[in-house]
Parts: sequence; C-alpha cells; structure tokens
Amino acid sequence: MAILDGKQLAQQIRAELQAEVSTIVEKGGKIPHLAAVLIGDNPASQAYVRNKVRSCEQVGFRSTLIQRDANTTHDELLQIVDELNQNPEIDGFIVQLPLPKHIDEYAITLAIDPRKDVDGFHPLNFGRMAQGLPCYLPATPFGILEIIRRYEIPTAGKEVVVIGRSNIVGSPISILMARKGYPGDATVTICHSRTQNLAEHTLKADIIIAAIGQAEFLKADMVKPGAVVIDVGINRVDDHNTASGYRLTGDVDYENVAPKCAWITPVPGGVGQLTVAALLMNTLKSAKGEIYG
Ligand code: NAD
Repeated sequence: MAILDGKQLAQQIRAELQAEVSTIVEKGGKIPHLAAVLIGDNPASQAYVRNKVRSCEQVGFRSTLIQRDANTTHDELLQIVDELNQNPEIDGFIVQLPLPKHIDEYAITLAIDPRKDVDGFHPLNFGRMAQGLPCYLPATPFGILEIIRRYEIPTAGKEVVVIGRSNIVGSPISILMARKGYPGDATVTICHSRTQNLAEHTLKADIIIAAIGQAEFLKADMVKPGAVVIDVGINRVDDHNTASGYRLTGDVDYENVAPKCAWITPVPGGVGQLTVAALLMNTLKSAKGEIYG
C-alpha cells in the first residue's frame, strides 16, 4: 500500500503557483486576486475559507474576504455577487456553501459571472466540462484529477466506481473519468443512495472514488485487492481525546481498507488539500485569461 499524499502535492502545486506569481510580478503583470464570501458562522465553512485565504497568501495571490452574518438577505448577497462580478480587480470568487436556508443557493450560483466562477459550479462551466471545452473544473474533481495525474495512476480502460452523485463531486468526477484522454478513458459506474448491492460494483473497481459524506462507509470487504481508493469525505466525528472534541475522518474505513489497496488518499491530508490548490489554479487561469480570454 502506498499513500497518495495530498499535502505534499499541494505544497508542490503552491510552489509552482508561487513561481508563476514571481514571473508575473517581474513582468509588471497583475497579481491574481481571489475573493471569498462567507455568510453566517458555520465553523466548518469558516475553517475552509480561512484555509483558502491563507493559501492565497502563501503563493503570493491577493485575497479579499467578505464576511456577513447569517441574517444577510438573498438580495444583499446578490448585491455582493454583482459587485464582485463588476470589479475588475477580482479575477475569481467563491461563495462558500452551504448558505443559510433562506438563501436560494442555486440562484446565487447562477448569478456568478461564469468567467469568475473559479469553483466551477455555474451550469455554463459544468456544461463546458461535460462537452470537453475549456472551463473552470469544479475544484474537488480538479484536485482528484491532479492526484491521479501527478502519481501517474493509469486510468484508460480501468473500471472506476464513483460513490455519490452530487453536483460538486460525484457527478462531475464521473464525467471527467469517462472523458477522452488522460486522466480519463475509464469505464465509469456511478453508485448512489438507491444503488442495489453496492459491494458487487465496488469489488469490480480498479479505482474507487468515495464521496458519500458518511464516516468510514467503505469497508475492506467492499474493495478488490490492489485497488486505488480516493476518499473525498470529510466527516467530523466526536473524539473527546482531542482539544476540539472531534476529529476528521473520511468516507473510507482507512485502517482496514488501506492494507488492501495499491494506493489510497488519507483524511486529512488527501483530497481536501488538493481542492484548495485547484481553486488557486483556477484563479490563475482566470487572471491569465486562459478560459474565457
Ligand atoms: P452530498 O451529500 O451532496 O452527496 C452524497 C452522495 O452520497 C449522494 O449522491 C448520495 O446518493 C450518496 N449516498 C448517500 N448514501 C449512500 C449509500 N448508502 N450508498 C451509496 N451512496 C450513498 O455530498 P457531497 O457534497 O458530494 O460530499 C460528499 C463528502 O465529501 C462529504 O463528506 C463532504 O464533506 C466531502 N467533501 C469534501 C471535499 C474536499 O475538498 N475533500 C469537497 C466537497 C465535499
């Protein structure tokens, strides 16, 4: 078993981005600028956004954090999105999800200018992704592709099972793994909450991508020896032995699954690290006008 080390890969990507920023500065170009909008006080969202802002600083990007309380109205948030759309200083921005219940998330996603949609959630970017056109790939699937590419995991003709069909992870990564070219050309099965006999599918898989949101859901008896397991899940489970009272765990029963695998991502230190790196890569693409000119 070998570890797909997201932490180390993210460091490598940050170093590459930092070098690009230095080149931009030398040439007197515009430094990439990412904005993040955080509504409310969800602790996990606060941690994610802090991490994104910190990562910007590490690579020399500019960043702007816009924080509002949970009572922010739908119209007020639309106004913020509109200002960011118009602001020529901002190359890309994200609105951290989930939003408070009174705000229509989909309407907010639609309001983001696709040219600044560095999370890749806008249906225009999703459609372009599905058609293999230049687009901002959604950050987590983009991060998974980077893991596969940089560890040179073979994918052509492989059986890939994706567990989960969400718009931000399961559905896009299944499209990407089936696309022509590397990393892709795989035979993809999407499993979800209505799938019958899940283990029959997972046991055939050369690569399993687990994006379910249930701690330690994928057990060792569901995994073929020598499989590659990519664990997208980030679940908080109570742990009174830690200062915070919880620990993070993935969707994979790591302790028992890892010994059977060829490769596996740990949680933390796996996909999550790459998600942030992918967001920065998308922001750089925007600053350079690589997708929409
Ligand atoms: P989601 O809740 O939107 O989707 C979960 C999916 O799991 C659904 O499509 C559902 O059909 C499927 N599912 C639920 N129960 C199942 C079962 N018993 N058998 C088979 N499939 C089942 O979740 P999401 O937004 O895709 O996130 C999934 C996990 O990934 C969460 O833990 C989330 O925190 C994590 N996540 C991590 C990152 C990262 O950067 N690492 C990014 C996004 C999400």
